[in-house]
Amino acid sequence: MISARTRRGDGRLTAALDPQDAGPQDECGVFGVWAPGEDVAKLTYYGLYALQHRGQESAGIAASDGKRIAVYKDMGLVSQVFDEPTLSALTGHMAVGHCRYSTTGVNKWANAQPTLGATADDGTVALAHNGNLVNSAELLRMVESTDGAHTRGEIKQGNTTDTALVTALLHGEPGISVEATALELLPKVRGAYCFVFMTEHTLYAARDPHGVRPLVLGRLERGWVVASEQAALATVGASFIREVEPGEMIAIDEDGIRSTRFAEEQPAGCVFEYVYLARPDAAINGRSVYESRVEMGRRLAQEHPVEADVVIPVPESGTPAAVGYAEASGLPFRQGFVKNAYVGRTFIQPSQTLRQLGIRLKLNVQPSVVAGRRVVVVDDSIVRGNTQRAIVRMLKEAGAAEVHVKISSPPVKWPCFYGIDFATRAELIANGAGVAEIASSIGADSLAYISEEGMIAATEQPRERLCTACFTGRYPIELVDEKERGKAVLETGAPTTAATPVVGEDGIVTTVTSTGCEPGPDAEDEKLLTETDRTPL
Ligand code: SF4
Repeated sequence: MISARTRRGDGRLTAALDPQDAGPQDECGVFGVWAPGEDVAKLTYYGLYALQHRGQESAGIAASDGKRIAVYKDMGLVSQVFDEPTLSALTGHMAVGHCRYSTTGVNKWANAQPTLGATADDGTVALAHNGNLVNSAELLRMVESTDGAHTRGEIKQGNTTDTALVTALLHGEPGISVEATALELLPKVRGAYCFVFMTEHTLYAARDPHGVRPLVLGRLERGWVVASEQAALATVGASFIREVEPGEMIAIDEDGIRSTRFAEEQPAGCVFEYVYLARPDAAINGRSVYESRVEMGRRLAQEHPVEADVVIPVPESGTPAAVGYAEASGLPFRQGFVKNAYVGRTFIQPSQTLRQLGIRLKLNVQPSVVAGRRVVVVDDSIVRGNTQRAIVRMLKEAGAAEVHVKISSPPVKWPCFYGIDFATRAELIANGAGVAEIASSIGADSLAYISEEGMIAATEQPRERLCTACFTGRYPIELVDEKERGKAVLETGAPTTAATPVVGEDGIVTTVTSTGCEPGPDAEDEKLLTETDRTPL
């Protein structure tokens, strides 16, 4: 079963207020369950719910009953895509699920996941991917050299993602198992990936040798679960067992669970997962994301004290760091903003009047907290600066005497090629502007960022086990030739997940789009901003 159908809203107010500026997007959550006797579709549904923050453009679930795989996917939130009848039709003993945050321009049904592909032995494989590959052009050539593999399946149906290439390559050869095919293929796949995939009989989970994105293994009473974050395990009642190791592939079927190393571990976990991306209740490599963020706030206060009256967060992502800042500075912590929790993504377009409200649709100031006070406002990061400009303006309009902006990550100066679609390099406000200039642009009385050392120390991870490329420009996974992955984006400011045109031997140009897969920190807020918010003061 593959289906697209009429979109239905859930009554929530849309955040897509400015179609001209889709903002940095791209994120994915992956989930897999092997649990005979359980309602695997509903387990996957609730697992995806817990991972909704990692992808809000489309959602899908594939289920296997041992004979056939059925998949249902559509555009929208998990709650919009699935209902009782749909989930009831997805029967079996295992399932994989995916929620996607696509790159602008490739947010289409054909690119929703899980992707389906045929295997050489007349089976089916369903695959969900979180991350971003850096050698898509090479993978496309591998697909093209595979007899017929590119003329069928999802690529033929218009899927333009790197994920579809991997699915096509899992087709393999007759007589060779999908497990063996995957173990040979995975070392050739370069970039950031967490794959959760299955055949009719076996569930697989694989993490790239750098472990850029998180992937965890959990235990149910009668089965196993793999998921992007621990919160999804807790939501479905699974206990955390361990992380899937970098360079490891796990297979789960009626013979039990087995682990194979397909590549040597070269850890380079994304430090931005600690700063912003992961849920605060996640733990990555044994370190609580929440505690990391609180510690970032403490260190920020030690590095950049200021005379002020109150500390407030930009909700929700700035909250743990604001707690830490208040604790270390001795200043009172207050909630200076109230967030409208129901501003999400739906298909209801706002009226022109609502558009003009901009970010005020999402955030209201508490005047009693800020009026007449010197306010420290803590946020996790600055990408373009537009959101912070709007925030400062709101605080000043509400009567704040001074606004001091504190940021719990260093300046973002470089694009991410491993799955975060922040913005183009040209759009990054810290690319070319100093701290004082940025403070002036956003209208703040002062601005300070945590140091790189402070951020890393707060994660309690060795520096050499982390990727910090968007802050430092030091990319831990070699970026192949610019034609193969669009290196020109570093120089020209072209989109970081730009489509990669590849000319085949037959002269036909094929375009491969990166899956992307993590949202930029201001992905939602950017869509709410008005033209005034985007204009430097
Ligand atoms: S470049 Fe930044 S966002 Fe991308 S993986 Fe590295 S640390 Fe994470």
